[in-house]
Amino acid sequence: MIRDPDAFARLLTDVREFVRNECLPLEEQIDIDDQIPEALVQRMREVGLFGHSIPEAYGGAGLTSEELSLVNMEVSQVATTFRARFGGNTGIASESLVVDGTPAQKDKYLPQLASGRVTGCFALTEPQAGSDATALDTVAVRDGDHFVITGRKCFITNAPLADLFTVFARTGDQRRGANGITAFLVERGTPGLSTPPPPRKMGQHGSPVGEVVLDKVRVHESAIVGGLEGQGFRTAMRALNKQRINLAGLCIGPAIRLVQEMAQRASTRQQGGQAIGEHQLVQQMIAESNTEVHAARALLLETARKRDAGGDVTMEASMCKLFASEMCGRVADRAVQVFGGAGYMAGNVAERFYRDVRVFRIYEGTTQIHLSNIAKRTLAAAAVNT
Ligand SMILES: Cc1cc2nc3c(=O)[nH]c(=O)nc-3n(C[C@H](O)[C@H](O)[C@H](O)COP(=O)(O)OP(=O)(O)OC[C@H]3O[C@@H](n4cnc5c(N)ncnc54)[C@H](O)[C@@H]3O)c2cc1C
Repeated sequence: MIRDPDAFARLLTDVREFVRNECLPLEEQIDIDDQIPEALVQRMREVGLFGHSIPEAYGGAGLTSEELSLVNMEVSQVATTFRARFGGNTGIASESLVVDGTPAQKDKYLPQLASGRVTGCFALTEPQAGSDATALDTVAVRDGDHFVITGRKCFITNAPLADLFTVFARTGDQRRGANGITAFLVERGTPGLSTPPPPRKMGQHGSPVGEVVLDKVRVHESAIVGGLEGQGFRTAMRALNKQRINLAGLCIGPAIRLVQEMAQRASTRQQGGQAIGEHQLVQQMIAESNTEVHAARALLLETARKRDAGGDVTMEASMCKLFASEMCGRVADRAVQVFGGAGYMAGNVAERFYRDVRVFRIYEGTTQIHLSNIAKRTLAAAAVNT
């Protein structure tokens, strides 16, 4: 749903101009430096990028799912590290609060997240709890009206620079399973919380991803998201459900860019006295890529509109994430092929996106996890209908 087409068109134009004029010229240097300049982060705050999904009552833009999807397809047409800098705040790191936070928690944190004064992160994954997040070992033991949290999170986007951590820990007696997991809001500076330097990774340079160490971190019970113990896994799944729609948009943006880059290269690169784009086999790579971009975009927008209309899109969100992330990987692979040897060299746009987009098939539910979710739901629906 697009609430006010004129106002939204202006917002989209502002985002497009910022991305093309201010981010695009820096993408190669950031890949080398592994760091986004603070001046650019400040511009992201001024443009309002940190608060797109946060309700207007808390200083955000309150974008609908359809609006957010269109913005996501725009912001990810440059190196995906830019979006990773503000994407937690306008996605996974604020969504737990938006869906389940108490009024006091929303009043305190959402305006700071929306403005970008505070950077949030979502700390669920642990060394032995990845695809099966219910296997987490981090514990929070009650001590009067406080909890003492001990554990170690890994692969947490923005952990090294985050000010606010949504930490999932076990509060119940059960050692495994979804019940007994509670979400806590932990502020940077709380004694016992530390974030070691981030390790190097394949792509998305400039977006630090690292560990969160919790060594007897003491928080008041008012830090429980929503105030209720044992609801954390439900909160995480609600946040991730929306995030999968966001992520699909973030997979489509790079593919749109790469189709443009492939077409340009194919028109200008001459071999054997003609542009390589005149060869039908090169045309096939471009045509298949562009067709898949359009299919992913159509699936995403239909799902976003259904969500805006109040429909249950749990299965469609999985389909969007699965199809868009796999599609993006195929397009990036073809882009390297169209660029030939140049596409394998550091500094080439296809080479950089090829590395950057690989993770889309791994985080927020791997391809295999989404395939099994979709299969389970499809089989269950068939069983009901027979
Ligand atoms: C760059 C990056 C950023 C991240 N950011 C965050 C973040 O901000 N917050 C956060 O909490 N986490 C984050 N993660 C963690 C991410 O969500 C996990 O890596 C992901 O869920 C997979 O878990 P795993 O790495 O333990 O792989 P595993 O679960 O060990 O999976 C390994 C392989 O086994 C397959 N597999 C596992 N279980 C099944 C099954 N039941 N059926 C079929 N196949 C299966 C998987 O599909 C995969 O191919 C991030 C990861 C990366 C790489």
